[in-house]
Amino acid sequence: MAKRTVEDLELNGKKVLIRVDFNVPIKDGEITNDNRIIAALPTINYVIEHGGKAILFSHLGRVKTEEDKEGKSLQPVAARLSELLDKPVSFVPQTRGAELEKAISEMKDGDVLVVENTRFEDIDGKKESKNDPELGKYWASLGDVYVNDAFGTAHRAHASNVGIASNLPSAAGYLMEKEIKFIGGAVDEPKRPFVAILGGAKVSDKIGVIENLIEKADKILIGGGMTYTFYKAQGKNIGKSICEPDKVDLAKELLEKAAGKIILPVDTVCAPDFDNDAPTEIHENNIPDNLEGLDIGPKTIELFTKELQGAKTVVWNGPMGVFELPTFAKGTIGVCEAIANLKDATTIIGGGDSAAAAIQLGFADKFTHISTGGGASLEYLEGKKLPGVESISDK
Ligand code: ADP
Ligand code: MG
Repeated sequence: MAKRTVEDLELNGKKVLIRVDFNVPIKDGEITNDNRIIAALPTINYVIEHGGKAILFSHLGRVKTEEDKEGKSLQPVAARLSELLDKPVSFVPQTRGAELEKAISEMKDGDVLVVENTRFEDIDGKKESKNDPELGKYWASLGDVYVNDAFGTAHRAHASNVGIASNLPSAAGYLMEKEIKFIGGAVDEPKRPFVAILGGAKVSDKIGVIENLIEKADKILIGGGMTYTFYKAQGKNIGKSICEPDKVDLAKELLEKAAGKIILPVDTVCAPDFDNDAPTEIHENNIPDNLEGLDIGPKTIELFTKELQGAKTVVWNGPMGVFELPTFAKGTIGVCEAIANLKDATTIIGGGDSAAAAIQLGFADKFTHISTGGGASLEYLEGKKLPGVESISDK
């Protein structure tokens, strides 16, 4: 079912509550990366350009005790937002109360206000994180309509997403709309052939994704550390490579269930230890006892490139090797290149480390969509309903 978007709302003169993701890294009071604030600008600008009063909610880090509040105020974020919007932004150091209500009542059309960190409500009974119904109702009472643009928390039912949305007409902001369109679209109605590339460290992190995509994708290419649990299931030697012995049976089952659909690496870049300067060797199939597999090899890059030919939808989750060390980043680079060269394909990255890898390796603009939500994109790829998405009004 299609969700309402911010463009479907009547905004003029309205108090528009917007849940954004301002969970930015802050060190000694300084924001060290403002990408998430920049990413929220299109929705905020749309609201204020259409005469809405923008009242912004976000969490910042985790807050369990009074002491945790230290360094977790959204005040520096409001200051940075003001610079980026080139207009005043008011900040209220409260998540509820008279000061907040007064500040909102004094807003003019086009004004912007930032409410204090929603997780400050977690100190006394986890009201935000447990979606306390009174809190959601209270926040909703502060506005006329609600826009959710925080995909990163969409896999959680919190007061600032599900709680408010249950009490007001709601819509998706631009970021959220893009995530629903691309990740939701790929999983629910992919253009075929649909190829999934799965990697990362562990099978156990990705069981849900593999099981869902086995049903939906035409092919699944497996790389990264999870390769060796599958190798083990095939009776191969894996040397010192990471392996989850309790997942070998599951790997066997998956290989049987998806005969021909799952494609495993044919060669591995191996080293005696986890070290960028370690001497490397390439081994096909079996890995010697004294070595560990740290990246897919050149023949596998070639194989995966061939398997990707003609794909119309590609979902990539999980690096092909230990990309953090340049010696073992070639497989991930090779797969990025193969995806970048596809014509007419919708190409999507879900997963925090995969997104970081693509950005770090210089492929950020080569994908149709890089998801901003690590955990949320993973759950979406698992085929789960995300409460933050579900709670947005349908068109
Ligand atoms: P994502 O965040 O994109 O879902 P994961 O968290 O599952 O990805 O996996 C990322 C991690 O997997 C990286 O830190 C990478 O170093 C690690 N990794 C990839 N290949 C291997 C390997 N062969 N051995 C050990 N770790 C690996
Ligand atoms: Mg990760």
